[in-house]
Amino acid sequence: MRLSRYFLPTLKETPHEAQIVSHQLMLRAGMIRQASAGIYNWLPLGHAVMQNIEQIVREEQNRAGANELLMPTIQSAELWRQSGRYEDYGKEMLRVRDRHDREMLYGPTNEELITDIFKSGAKSYRDVPALLYQFQWKFRDEVRPRFGVMRGREFLMKDCYSFDADYEGAMAAYRKMFVAYLRTFARMNLKAIPVEAESGPIGGNLSHEFCVLADTGETELFTHRDLIDYDILDRPVDYDTDLRSIVDYWTSHYARTDDTHEQAVFEEQVPADQRVQRRGIEVGHIFYFGTKYSEPLEAYISTREGESVPVHMGSYGIGVSRLVGAIIEAFHDEAGIIWPESVAPFRVGLVNIRSTDSDCRATCDDLHERLQDAGISVLYDDTDESPGAKFAQMDLIGLPWQIVVGPRGVQAGTVELKHRATGERQELSPESALAKLMA
Ligand code: ATP
Ligand code: MG
Repeated sequence: MRLSRYFLPTLKETPHEAQIVSHQLMLRAGMIRQASAGIYNWLPLGHAVMQNIEQIVREEQNRAGANELLMPTIQSAELWRQSGRYEDYGKEMLRVRDRHDREMLYGPTNEELITDIFKSGAKSYRDVPALLYQFQWKFRDEVRPRFGVMRGREFLMKDCYSFDADYEGAMAAYRKMFVAYLRTFARMNLKAIPVEAESGPIGGNLSHEFCVLADTGETELFTHRDLIDYDILDRPVDYDTDLRSIVDYWTSHYARTDDTHEQAVFEEQVPADQRVQRRGIEVGHIFYFGTKYSEPLEAYISTREGESVPVHMGSYGIGVSRLVGAIIEAFHDEAGIIWPESVAPFRVGLVNIRSTDSDCRATCDDLHERLQDAGISVLYDDTDESPGAKFAQMDLIGLPWQIVVGPRGVQAGTVELKHRATGERQELSPESALAKLMA
């Protein structure tokens, strides 16, 4: 992609309305623009990152055996009346009326609707276990939308729902999602700690919040250092076997947030030399809530013995749009964003520092084409900005690699390959630079 054809409205100044670094950097890097309070336009660069995040989440949901579907954003109030939540949800729910004066709402979550879908298609124990998920925009009229996409009013969520015949089945689903979440966040280079949580308005009996570590996070975390060192991607995960050993390992090591338990419990549970206190951001939340929705909405299945029982359910959310901000909170420096390779909007930024020089242009055009042929995504700065402005913009948007092409190097047959995260630079022939990126 040529920068001259790419819509990238970066800003030099830090916008005064942004209080936290991810919000500042997302505005400065031309990723988002506010449409109204807590509601954002996703510009090409921001949209590309969000799609990469979505794809990792999707691959890990599929790996765990979940089926993707899509429900509407606008729901009828009827099912919510049956579950009792139409009244309970309060002002966070955006209520609308259609032309026939029917009560509708913009979904803040989807337990009622998915229960109704399951009910329409499942009759017996043969239809479970079922895991159904979607990516869909949610609307919650937060009292204080803030921190950009981290606490928006409209936000993109992956929401998954499990259906099982009994408690044991539901726990097996819960463990699958627990492990899928560890893998999902690890693939984004994030260290996620599942902490036991209160269930809140979704309600229920068992719940974990997944908090990713970031020094600027809102939540204070207390945990055992072994959980920080544990690398889930190092271990083979077979979703057809029982995942109890992995989940037990995590839940038996202390991990709590400041609002769930007191400091004293932490000190009682974890030896002094193994205690870790960090800050984190909640990016995912899993719940087991049993028959809370299946009973009022009458989602019953027949057991092998012919008995009719309400299905046991769980729900599993990931804040996809919040993750964009959370990743920036975890990975940035003074100059800008530092994307992990797995979510980067482009892997390489190709910078021509003298676009008027025909040799520089020929070298760049050639590299641009060969990178694209090799399937390496590249943003090619072919504009006539000053070298200083180009470098600053590349650092700001945080692509993992930069290839810098200038007249002196081109004469000597070299380009410069810079690694954004470490700042390491190497003079290489264009061929070696390509080979390095392909390795
Ligand atoms: P929080 O405690 O942050 O208000 P929640 O408990 O209300 O979140 P859930 O209903 O569990 O959130 O939603 C699942 C995920 O959706 C959360 O873990 C979070 O990542 C994301 N999320 C929730 N509210 C917002 C929001 N206002 N803006 C962006 N993402 C959100
Ligand atoms: Mg929560």
